[in-house]
Amino acid sequence: MKPNTFNLTVLILLSFLSLSTAQKKSISETWYKGNLHAHSFWSDGNDFPEMIMDWYKNHNYDFAVLSDHNTLNAGEKWVTIDDNKTKKLALQKYQKKFEDHWIHTRKDSEGNTMVRLKTLQEYRSIFEASEEFLIIQSEEITDRYENKHIHVNATNIVNKIEPRGGKTVAEMLQNNIDAVNAQRKETGVPMIPHINHPNFGWSVTTDDIKKLDGEQFFEVYNGHPAVHNFGDDTRPGMDEMWDDILTAYILNNKPPLYGLATDDSHSYHERKVGHSNTGRGWVMVNAQNLNPVSIINALEKGDFYATSGVNFNYIKKANNTLSFEVQPETGVTYKVQFIGTKKSNPMDTGIVLKETNEIENSYTLTDDDLYVRAIIISDKLKENPYQEGETERAWVQPLINK
Ligand SMILES: [Zn+2]
Ligand SMILES: [Zn+2]
Repeated sequence: MKPNTFNLTVLILLSFLSLSTAQKKSISETWYKGNLHAHSFWSDGNDFPEMIMDWYKNHNYDFAVLSDHNTLNAGEKWVTIDDNKTKKLALQKYQKKFEDHWIHTRKDSEGNTMVRLKTLQEYRSIFEASEEFLIIQSEEITDRYENKHIHVNATNIVNKIEPRGGKTVAEMLQNNIDAVNAQRKETGVPMIPHINHPNFGWSVTTDDIKKLDGEQFFEVYNGHPAVHNFGDDTRPGMDEMWDDILTAYILNNKPPLYGLATDDSHSYHERKVGHSNTGRGWVMVNAQNLNPVSIINALEKGDFYATSGVNFNYIKKANNTLSFEVQPETGVTYKVQFIGTKKSNPMDTGIVLKETNEIENSYTLTDDDLYVRAIIISDKLKENPYQEGETERAWVQPLINK
């Protein structure tokens, strides 16, 4: 049957419309929400991997990891449900959620129930779905130098990396970062190291990070209560550290340092200040597709933002101009700061170049600017803060003056 002119017009119009929607989506509007740092019973988290993945999937995350300390979620590991209340509760919730035939138990010599932890290979299939939810293999390479904690996450790792050690904090960081980058080279699989919570135990300073090569990511925000995101009276917080390091990297022709927000969740049964819970910090990644290669490509290009609650309608970097629109919420006000360092005064890092309370914002680099980045501080209290009184924020990645 030959379609009449009207039908043909409608058909052409419809296909044009669907094409333009698809193009628009793939080019600028696909923001994937993800958490790049979390723990389970595979190390010191207090829940089963499937329960944690279930939480992230049901809270609108598109991707998640379990970055357990010095282990992949692989091989055979049993957790003993002894008299510990939290472990008992975890097992009860697990048994309620999953059918008996899925859960693999046995008794130890004292009559305690032991549960075999599911491997990533086993549990990924019950959560993953194309363009809906992705699990990326990860490890928190966990090293220690005297009383300093040197923790480096490896996202999309293929083979487990043992902590490499070293004679100084910087050397230890470098050795672990090198191990990730070497595995990337050997396997051809894109993977990234990122420095975790520098102020945990006041372990890692800007001077340590400035010395590094092949390092592009750190946690500007981590939801664990012991990480001092905002520093203290004498020591810098993550924002101050970021500008100090970024300035040094640019002046030394290194790639820019990008800031991630993560949960570092360990504690899944009580949600309150003092516990490292889910849902505190995450990244929104402007990637082509929901797969590890695409996500890592976008992260490496800086096509993402870090957030503890504030979102954007768009972020654009073009012609030396950084512009964005905050996704406004009724009754919430936003302090927007464009931050950078001047070439003429590089010792004075991270100065406020422009401050507004607008929803739509832009800043064009001047000849004297090394870079510009932005932080948005809302006055909306976080629902489950990492510390009392904390309000929601977001961090836009730096635009470097070429
Ligand atoms: Zn850590
Ligand atoms: Zn951790």
